[in-house]
Amino acid sequence: MRMIFMGPPGAGKGTQAAVVAEKYGIPAISTGDIFRANVGEGTPLGLEAKRYMDAGEYVPDSVTNNMVRDRLAQPDAEPGFLLDGYPRTLAQVEELDGMLAASGASLDAVVVLTVDSEELVQRLLKRAETSGRSDDTEEVIRHRQDVYTEQTAPLIDVYRDRGLLLEVDGLGEVTEVSERILTALDGVSRG
Ligand code: AMP
Repeated sequence: MRMIFMGPPGAGKGTQAAVVAEKYGIPAISTGDIFRANVGEGTPLGLEAKRYMDAGEYVPDSVTNNMVRDRLAQPDAEPGFLLDGYPRTLAQVEELDGMLAASGASLDAVVVLTVDSEELVQRLLKRAETSGRSDDTEEVIRHRQDVYTEQTAPLIDVYRDRGLLLEVDGLGEVTEVSERILTALDGVSRG
């Protein structure tokens, strides 16, 4: 199973991605987590990414695409994967198409978590109290929502046109939302 998780910042993507990936026995690949790990280790990639992340901007496509290409080439991603937070731009969609085509693979599903944007800002402000993430200030949080609307929301139409889109209500208890996602995906795996 090869799938993508999309949704605005704070929609609970990372949490749900981990649950679903575990259920399917595939790696959850979060570009945000990989960037944060690199920032933590002070690698050149981390240093480059940090300036964008702290400002709530997207890391440039060239940097992100190369990172994902390397990660998808790892043996554990060969039977399937769940991409959490990638692609986020139309250019990244094209790049991913190329990577998959090169290995004769294709996507099975794109899950989009939908949540009201003010609810999201409130969730993120709450997370900010404990996360220690430098991109969890109110100004940056609001900017990240705008960047999502401008650059990532258009991808929803692209994947809907391809018949891959599963829109899931992201509001509710974590287990409740997981159930909704797994039910939606069940339809896909059964064809
Ligand atoms: P996330 O944890 O998914 O919210 O990602 C945190 C930050 O990492 C984002 O605000 C971006 O700065 C950066 N990032 C993560 N994924 C991508 C991507 N696909 N393209 C560009 N930047 C990304």
